[in-house]
Amino acid sequence: QAAATPPSQLTASTCCYCGVGCGVLIEHDGEKILGVQGDPSHPANHGKLCSKGSTLHLTGDLDARALYPELRLGKGLARSRSDWDNALDHAAAVFTETIREHGPDSVAFYISGQLLTEDYYAFNKLARALVGTNNIDSNSRLCMSSAVVGYKRSLGADAPPCSYEDIEQSDCLLIAGSNMAYAHPILFRRLEAAKAARPDMQIIVVDPRRTDTCELADLHLAILPGTDVALFHGILHLLLWEGWVDRAYIDAHTEGFDALKTLVRDYSPAAVAEICGIEQNDLLRAAELIGKAPSFLSLWCMGLNQSTAGSAKNSALINLHLATGQIGRVGAGPFSLTGQPNAMGGRETGSLSNLLPGHREAGNAEHRAEVARYWGVDSLPESTGLTAIELFEAVRAGKIKALWIACTNPAQSLPDQQKVHEALAACPFVVVQEAFFTTETCHYADLLLPAASWGEKEGSVTNSERRITHVRRAVPAPAEARPDWAITCDFARRLEQQLRPGLPSLFDFDSAQALFEEYKHLTRDRDLDLSGLSYAILDNQGPQQWPFPAGAQHGTARLYENGRFPTASGRAQFLAEPYRAAKEQRDARYPLLLNTGRLRDQWHGMSRTGTAARLFGHAEEAVLSLHPDELRNRRLEAGELIVLRSRRGGLILPVQADDSVRPGQAYLPMHWGNRFLKGLGTNVLTQPAFDPLSKQPELKLSSVEVAKAELP
Ligand code: SF4
Repeated sequence: QAAATPPSQLTASTCCYCGVGCGVLIEHDGEKILGVQGDPSHPANHGKLCSKGSTLHLTGDLDARALYPELRLGKGLARSRSDWDNALDHAAAVFTETIREHGPDSVAFYISGQLLTEDYYAFNKLARALVGTNNIDSNSRLCMSSAVVGYKRSLGADAPPCSYEDIEQSDCLLIAGSNMAYAHPILFRRLEAAKAARPDMQIIVVDPRRTDTCELADLHLAILPGTDVALFHGILHLLLWEGWVDRAYIDAHTEGFDALKTLVRDYSPAAVAEICGIEQNDLLRAAELIGKAPSFLSLWCMGLNQSTAGSAKNSALINLHLATGQIGRVGAGPFSLTGQPNAMGGRETGSLSNLLPGHREAGNAEHRAEVARYWGVDSLPESTGLTAIELFEAVRAGKIKALWIACTNPAQSLPDQQKVHEALAACPFVVVQEAFFTTETCHYADLLLPAASWGEKEGSVTNSERRITHVRRAVPAPAEARPDWAITCDFARRLEQQLRPGLPSLFDFDSAQALFEEYKHLTRDRDLDLSGLSYAILDNQGPQQWPFPAGAQHGTARLYENGRFPTASGRAQFLAEPYRAAKEQRDARYPLLLNTGRLRDQWHGMSRTGTAARLFGHAEEAVLSLHPDELRNRRLEAGELIVLRSRRGGLILPVQADDSVRPGQAYLPMHWGNRFLKGLGTNVLTQPAFDPLSKQPELKLSSVEVAKAELP
């Protein structure tokens, strides 16, 4: 029997799902992707891949791909195939007319943590330098914006200070609001291996639900939803009481401790145990594990960030590190896990409405002047840009008249989904730049632009540990799909002919590399300085962690080792903010608190993972999880169809008994966007209330009721 023909080529790239940022080797024949392997040389995963990464090659189904530009010339009409020139000329004409008639803030861009850094940079320059609006926000607003605020307020810069190796070297880990076994599987496997090698490593998991991550926990604190700030203040109260704080570190490197000390006096073990719904002994044990650990590292994700108290939760957790001096050394530090593959790149390039490239602020006149000078424009807009929830509310109110959406599916992923659908239906002109035409958002596209996807485009990404990898193209994009940066620049060149006639182009880029080269100099002398990096260095030396300033020989594994922070005083800041209960709570009408989250084998709205049958083996459909007592109280049987209602809408779906969910709570995966009646999904239930600083919405806490479905 003849041996199977080996794939002719391997191209090194990254997995396009989560923020672990695993390296992959794409097997292909120059035309088609044939398989995928973990890249043994990549420092994030050392050759391993999870169920999602290892099936990437099975998700290239052309039946789901957008292949040609499609344009509709009036609401209610069907879209028909166009060509790129016609499509982009039309878009430029509509944007020009809208901007001239209603001003630059009448248009907006909503982009994605799944774009590459070069794509982000092109969009930022388009919105801020050419259009003159700060109405450019990203779905990272739903993901990491509370961590951004947390780092900036406490440490002075949006920079996770640790490396993945610190996770393995830590003596005590606190994992808060993160089911990393599902959401960051390869990192979890690294942690499992470290715990197996060093069983004395202590792991505390804070999660209202007993998730698979709890399998590794020495202590699980199943706090009531939204009570994290009280928990962290309660732990600090005990650290102070027991003398487990590092007074020398506090005195030498921080400010604001006295106010915090006064605040946490009220957070006695009895008070905190009651607020959080946990045993006092467990609280004492957590404080002891943290207080006595030679090194202490915390990991967190959406459970802290997706909250109306997201910024306060981040600060309260970082307070624990500053009080114990557990930052800036091996195995120690506050380490937020990034949800999306390049949410970090978005933060770096200024892809939240309040930011500018190079960790600058859109509200800072000096920062605006620096970027304007570099881009060669007179000024950048001063007006406050809209954040995700505000932006779609402005669309619904008729204030945004032309909306450009790239590589994201807000009709599925934003809370209070029905209102988002109303907004998209009402918007006079919606452009959707997308690889998959199957998303809920594509339904509303007046102009659909086919984008290249994983394995089909070049650029760079930054993972959770600040590590930048060169993403390489293995095969051409199908049909007429094009790389996101190329679409953006092509549109921008047409728009500038209208808005800046006769002036040199701002978008004279012929490759992703050209964008990277321009962008990197905007980071010079900033905290994230990556001006010393190039594609050639990434190719020759492998992925590198920023900062990597000009002349550096290697990246930087750990920040703040010298105890100096990028704040005005050089000291880290303690934040003294009290616990505030979430506004929406259980009541007689809605007696359950709904938590939403991920499944192991699905990603976001399933536009990609939903094309691989194998990935439905773990969970075939969306099922509501309720504690067996709650089923009994309602005389429900497992598998029965129920109506799940919040103040915003309702769904019909099956229910299952699940004692990992506490009585009084419910759990539903977030992935299903339009699989229920009326084409709505999980987020029809969730609330658009958001954190006052980070503007990140409360996706993980909604009061709901469950009743037997009365079907005709
Ligand atoms: Fe991809 Fe994340 Fe899995 Fe790594 S852990 S293979 S980046 S989904």
